[in-house]
Amino acid sequence: MSQPLLLNLHGVSCGFAQQPVVQDLSLHLNSGDIACLLGPSGCGKTTSLRAIAGFEPLQAGEISLNGKVISRQGFTLPPEQRRIGMVFQDYALFPHLTVAQNVAFGIRQHPRREQLTAELLELVKLSELGKRYPHELSGGQQQRVALARALAPEPLLLLLDEPFSNLDGELRRRLSMEVRDILKARGTSAILVTHDQEEAFAVSDHVGVFQQGRLQQWDTPFNLYHEPLTPFVASFIGQGYFIRGQLLSPDTVQTELGILRGNRAYSWPIGSAVDVLLRPDDIVPDAAGTLQARVSGKTFLGAATLYRLQLATGSQLEALFPSHAEHQPGEMVGIRIDADHLVLFPATGSQPTREALLPL
Ligand code: ATP
Repeated sequence: MSQPLLLNLHGVSCGFAQQPVVQDLSLHLNSGDIACLLGPSGCGKTTSLRAIAGFEPLQAGEISLNGKVISRQGFTLPPEQRRIGMVFQDYALFPHLTVAQNVAFGIRQHPRREQLTAELLELVKLSELGKRYPHELSGGQQQRVALARALAPEPLLLLLDEPFSNLDGELRRRLSMEVRDILKARGTSAILVTHDQEEAFAVSDHVGVFQQGRLQQWDTPFNLYHEPLTPFVASFIGQGYFIRGQLLSPDTVQTELGILRGNRAYSWPIGSAVDVLLRPDDIVPDAAGTLQARVSGKTFLGAATLYRLQLATGSQLEALFPSHAEHQPGEMVGIRIDADHLVLFPATGSQPTREALLPL
């Protein structure tokens, strides 16, 4: 059952001194959902988050929360009246207050202050550390305190700006999954900013991919990976290469790897030149296969190995093979293409648009 609409951005533009940074941004978030704004540095993620928090006035459009307009041109409901919590990259804890005092800071008037603080400390697995000061904690522990503090006033929406970027690999991965579990356990809606795709996929129900101030696609992680709407999203999300092809029928394309058929249809004229997206997991080892490629490099990833392959035509591919079969650079390997989610774009040089996509 779908949850009620919580946050709605419609045609939002904002920026600095006449310089537009975020342009015509529309998205919505349902209650209890976690979303992520993802994109390269400087694309406007933090500015969008600050507009939602009430720190950036709008030049156009409207933001509403729980059905009430909180920002439009000429009107910005102050941040403290929005019931929106924030968690920052640098934790921003009060150094002179203990962990428990930090968590209780925003609920000083709350009748169940102590009980609520204890519950939150337990939720973020810090019950034993309530009397410590921030400088006596690790980075991951400090970020948990910041999360508990932000959750204490029971915000309608929590905004997290690069919350894990000060932490290292494994801790970052673990904490991002924990934060998702904590938010889901409390039914708290959240929007997180990151430029780390793995983090975005681990935490979010929906991800918005930005490029130069414009939202390119707002979708589930699965759809972003398998059904990117623009060449930019296709290249920014995951790995992959484009090879040239020619449309033989709405769902079939002729390529140097043979005829590929997918589970969707395109309405471009038969014979159109197209770029075909091939992800590493679309290329399957097949010793008996007729397709041969030369290994030009490899990266061992543990459970799988990422091979760089070169076709006889000179085209490059990347393929993810289970790591128990080991191939050496220079070796020829048999492959098969297994790309149900056949993603095509008009060949480079023509206007990229996938509005021509038809349901099969
Ligand atoms: P990053 O991942 O590097 O944090 P971002 O996607 O969050 O990037 P923003 O911080 O939203 O990007 O910045 C978007 C653009 O707005 C950038 O070009 C930045 O230089 C510009 N910008 C940000 N803050 C200001 C400001 N206070 N005054 C003028 N320009 C600004």
